[in-house]
Amino acid sequence: MTANRLRRLYSADEAEIVVVDQDDRHLYQPGLLFMPFGLTHVEDIVRPRGRQLHDGISYRQSAVDSVDIIDDQVLLADGTSLEYDVLVVATGAVLVPEETEGLTGPGWMEKVFTFYTPEGAAALEAALAAFDAGRVVINIIDMPIKCPIAPLEFAFLADWYFTERKMRDRVQLTFVTPLDGAFTKPVASQQLAGMLAEKHIELVTEFNTGEVDGVEGKLVSYDGREVPFDLAVVIPAHGGAEYVGRSEGLGDELNFVPTDMRTLQSKARPNIFVIGDATDVPTSKAGSVTHFEGDVLVENIVHFLVGDELEAVFDGHANCFIETGFHKALLIDFNYETEPLTGHFPTKVGLPLLKESRLNHLGKLMFQWFYWHSLLPGRDIPGIGAAMPTAGKTPASVD
Ligand SMILES: Cc1cc2nc3c(=O)[nH]c(=O)nc-3n(C[C@H](O)[C@H](O)[C@H](O)COP(=O)(O)OP(=O)(O)OC[C@H]3O[C@@H](n4cnc5c(N)ncnc54)[C@H](O)[C@@H]3O)c2cc1C
Repeated sequence: MTANRLRRLYSADEAEIVVVDQDDRHLYQPGLLFMPFGLTHVEDIVRPRGRQLHDGISYRQSAVDSVDIIDDQVLLADGTSLEYDVLVVATGAVLVPEETEGLTGPGWMEKVFTFYTPEGAAALEAALAAFDAGRVVINIIDMPIKCPIAPLEFAFLADWYFTERKMRDRVQLTFVTPLDGAFTKPVASQQLAGMLAEKHIELVTEFNTGEVDGVEGKLVSYDGREVPFDLAVVIPAHGGAEYVGRSEGLGDELNFVPTDMRTLQSKARPNIFVIGDATDVPTSKAGSVTHFEGDVLVENIVHFLVGDELEAVFDGHANCFIETGFHKALLIDFNYETEPLTGHFPTKVGLPLLKESRLNHLGKLMFQWFYWHSLLPGRDIPGIGAAMPTAGKTPASVD
């Protein structure tokens, strides 16, 4: 998206643009949520990368080994290097399941799964299809994670899935989170906790998982609490890309890149900008955020290259459809200052916020089309801008 937008602004004589990625499989990650329920398959959510790039953008397929931020060079795993005037770090977040005791030990991919990878989501599809009774536990090991709402969506869809298979009464669903509620922000948290209760999904909060025991079938927290399971769906801890740790001065202890939350310039060097899950900015790690950041980031690269002051305007805007099962979904919209509220989006007339509707479900399904045809090519979506709209939102009041 960033490369495509920059290409549109600069001619080939003005700027050489190179995209580096380690593979040629661009995965539409929101689709992973639907795979375990047989609603989509990996071949429907993966496309080659070259097809997403406009003419005049070079594509280099190689892993990044490290970045030399003093000499302005990206060192590639194939032994070559690329010099840059401006570097955009867009290498996302990775799962670090090995950081949790027992998680990848006995039982991993047999009764302990994650749907955050294509392999995990496919294995979970088979496990769910074979499941006929017992305790299913959904556990977020630690924050931050990509799309913090996806585990709740999984719980809601599991309720729908087992209902459809006429076996919901034989399955106990439990949602186990390190947070003090169903979600991070008070209004949404209260609303979503109510929905879990309505759907008879047990909520266990402030549970910091220290160990996953795939033999005995139990999660054990650091403070000694236990949650038993027959099948666990775990969202492992996340970190930034490993090469960030090998690039002196670039990242923090989790390999995320310290980034100015308003300009999206890295704190390491003025000619390094950061977008998406790779940043440490205090908003969700979500595709919508990445999209909204893109507007500000590209403008600021243009300012930087001519020596102008950067615009400190990114507001942390995040926007997410929350699939709730039975062909319905909620929508949430928030930023650094404003928590997800009820009302409508983007104005007083529009999609309902924090309220289940079929329209939101259609929005969620249509989003994949927008992703490939609007977001990645760097086109604007009419009526949806980088700044969070305030019209239509109901001010917060939580009992
Ligand atoms: C299950 C799930 C559901 C989700 N649902 C939603 C949703 O409904 N709505 C939403 O807005 N967001 C959702 N997200 C989050 C969304 O997918 C991410 O926030 C988004 O993809 C982030 O984009 P990114 O470009 O920062 O990182 P990514 O899309 O992860 O891209 C990072 C790229 O960097 C490359 N890379 C990494 N390391 C190296 C290296 N060393 N060398 C070369 N290349 C490297 C990778 O190959 C990858 O192509 C979901 C995520 C998951 C996992």
